[in-house]
Amino acid sequence: MASADTSGKCILIIEDNPLNMKLFSAMVGAQGYGVLQAGDGLRGVDLAHQEHPDLIIMDIDLPGISGLEATRLLKADPETRDIPIIITTAYAYDDEIQASGCDGYMAKPITVADFVGLIDSLMKQVPQPRYVRHMIEEPIGAD
Ligand code: MN
Repeated sequence: MASADTSGKCILIIEDNPLNMKLFSAMVGAQGYGVLQAGDGLRGVDLAHQEHPDLIIMDIDLPGISGLEATRLLKADPETRDIPIIITTAYAYDDEIQASGCDGYMAKPITVADFVGLIDSLMKQVPQPRYVRHMIEEPIGAD
């Protein structure tokens, strides 16, 4: 099976554990994606609005607002709701995670194969770098 086309695509990692951030960033970078990083939920929500990443990897336990709250905010906002979000946590999958609106879930500790496979399958639904689509969808003359 061919891998997803990673060129020009960017993944936002929202994670407060420095070791996990380093590990996820290395794996995402090795797949050819650009990497954006946020160490807390609100910074992550801000970055998602500013940069329109093609996918978000979201921790749950974060300083400030939780990853579930950040996911609910992003999924309630027309600007960001179509960005796929993968929740990655040591918590077992439950109703609250499902209700957040996330597009995927990975249990920590993650395996490289699961990580790459899930990102790849979600990315294949994105036909081109998201910023291009965003520019096309931007109403002409909007301030
Ligand atoms: Mn955490």
